[in-house]
Amino acid sequence: MDAVDLRGGPLAKQVKEAVMVEAAAYAERGIVPVLAVVLASSDASALSYFQSKKKAAAGLGIRLDLVDLGEDVGQGALDGVLRSLSADPQVHGILLEFPLAPGLDGDRALSQMDPHKDVDGLTPLNLGLVASGRESEAIPAATPQACIELAETQGSLVGKKVGVVGRGRTVGRPLASMLINRHATVTVCHTRTRDLREALAHCDVVMVAAGKPGLIRAEHLSTGQIVIDAGINVVTDGLVGDVDAESVRPIAAALTPVPGGVGTLTTAIVFRNLMRAMRLQGVV
Ligand code: NAP
Repeated sequence: MDAVDLRGGPLAKQVKEAVMVEAAAYAERGIVPVLAVVLASSDASALSYFQSKKKAAAGLGIRLDLVDLGEDVGQGALDGVLRSLSADPQVHGILLEFPLAPGLDGDRALSQMDPHKDVDGLTPLNLGLVASGRESEAIPAATPQACIELAETQGSLVGKKVGVVGRGRTVGRPLASMLINRHATVTVCHTRTRDLREALAHCDVVMVAAGKPGLIRAEHLSTGQIVIDAGINVVTDGLVGDVDAESVRPIAAALTPVPGGVGTLTTAIVFRNLMRAMRLQGVV
């Protein structure tokens, strides 16, 4: 039997409904939540992330301000923009779209950002709080939250064996910490993993965030696994994930589609994180 199609839409709708209620309460007090999205590249995926946020923000009562610095911006100018947005009381959330233009240092840029405005949860403070098991004090990274919440529609992760393919800053690393925080037993794979098939064989759930189209095929997996594909790769035909869906669908218990899976829910969670950011900043 084919895998359950684990779409992000239904959960995203619930998240957005809750955000709308909170944004409306702010509106009653004359406050419009503002999210500044900073682009510093001409990369197709960075642009596609921004466009999906813009579409999702419509109707939520949130203002999205695009700060497009172009692909030629220098590190000093990027850092300066992030510092001034952090200091601006009219801006409640900041999101730096990745990947950045070549030559820009993402870690340095992120460390300029006020962690209480970091709606993607990627600044050192938020990552550190999550990694040290103090997730309730953090703004947790958005894409890992989406991966976890989609997997949890199929049952609790407590005590489950979860394989994570990728140890990148935006997804794999924070995801591994957040899974540990939920009492899963975690195996993290990367380019030095000798045998992906062997590393993933025993897992109940496999979460993939490698940025390699079609990397995971049926031969890497076991029958009945829940497969969460966080990959977003822009190819000539559109967007594809890191999982070869055609090969994996007949053996998986559940599979997230790309597009329409993790990315859809992540976009909504960014707005939920904006509401959390406003609470942490004491906006009332
Ligand atoms: P990243 O920083 O480039 O990390 C990629 C990771 O994948 C690295 O740890 C790398 O291993 C590993 N990897 C690459 N090829 C591999 C292979 N053949 N076998 C095993 N591991 C391999 O990427 P990222 O920023 O974490 O993003 C990962 C993916 O998630 C991308 O497709 C990105 O577009 C997507 N993404 C999706 C969303 C969403 O909302 N759905 C949001 C952000 C990112 P090494 O560490 O050894 O190099």
